Amino acid sequence: MVAVLVIVVLVIVISVWCSGRRGPRVPGLDQAVRFRLTSRWVTSLTRPMPAPMTHLLPTRTVRALVVVGLLLVAAAGTIRSTPVFAAPQVVTELTSIDTAADATVAADGRRLVAPDNFPMATAPRCDILNNFGDPRSGGRHHEGIDILATLGQEVYAMADGTLTLQVVAGSTANGASLSGNLWKLTAATGGTYYIYAHLSGFAPNLVKGSVVTKGQLLGWVGDTGNAGPGNYHLHFEIHPGGGAAVDALPLVKVPLACKVWG
Ligand SMILES: [Zn+2]
Repeated sequence: MVAVLVIVVLVIVISVWCSGRRGPRVPGLDQAVRFRLTSRWVTSLTRPMPAPMTHLLPTRTVRALVVVGLLLVAAAGTIRSTPVFAAPQVVTELTSIDTAADATVAADGRRLVAPDNFPMATAPRCDILNNFGDPRSGGRHHEGIDILATLGQEVYAMADGTLTLQVVAGSTANGASLSGNLWKLTAATGGTYYIYAHLSGFAPNLVKGSVVTKGQLLGWVGDTGNAGPGNYHLHFEIHPGGGAAVDALPLVKVPLACKVWG
């Protein structure tokens, strides 16, 4: 934002400068004479009058080079200040759960191809926040990574396994106010489990105890739980061997369509 303002100000200043409104306009006088007129107090101190070194390069060329230089500097500032997506806002209270939106998404029927070893469809948005371990309210720490998306992007099973826990947003289940709609998927071998939270809805015919295969549709991205209204993202955790959560980012295969932030 600051860079944009700087560019605007520069353009205005440069426009005024190049238009020649600074200094007197004297019809019929060439550039060199105008220069001597406007700098008479300088030349009076340095007699004899110096050779017109200022015209080794035409004045307009010098100005054009300065303009290009300033624009390059401004452009570099713009690149450096490209904003990084802020981490999802954490709210402490249960916020709106749009069950109507859930029904619309569930009735969509679209089926995209699941990316290899990645829990979510990549289109239309896939911005991965590298935020495992970030501090959260109440002394908690963020046990997953957040993948920013749009409402209704599909989420997929990371492995063959069983859905061992389903939390429904708005219910009295433990943690429902934080997680919203949640699946826990436990792999068929090794005991590793995966957490998918803030879903807008669950895929049809899936219940706790359902056996699923790798890449199977599990549900859709939403903003349920403490995600914050409109902050659509998948909160995703990996617990190797059934133990504590580890950073999921190095364990997934980041698709080319996704960006990693932070
Ligand atoms: Zn999260």
